[in-house]
Amino acid sequence: MSVNVDPEIDELRQLLEAQLQLHTDELSTLTAAGADPADAGEDPQTVTERITAASQAVADTTAALARIAEGTYGRCERCSGVIPAARLAILPRARRCVPCQARG
Ligand SMILES: [Zn+2]
Repeated sequence: MSVNVDPEIDELRQLLEAQLQLHTDELSTLTAAGADPADAGEDPQTVTERITAASQAVADTTAALARIAEGTYGRCERCSGVIPAARLAILPRARRCVPCQARG
């Protein structure tokens, strides 16, 4: 028994896994800097904003990997429309299609 995996999806999965690792590392570094911003020579406000952005990236990337596992990857979470491959190539963790993203 074998599972057929679309080579393009498999490539994206590997890319997402690499990005997840990067964002997770970034988050640990930022969290360490956030614990003592003065010592890290960082503006506390900037560190907080970057921690928020990195947390969001980790969450989105994890969610994208879960959607690949479920077979629902590439669908907009709002309208269920297909997210164009060109958009996924730029932002593999995209949760929404461009029109839905633009509507906020
Ligand atoms: Zn949509």
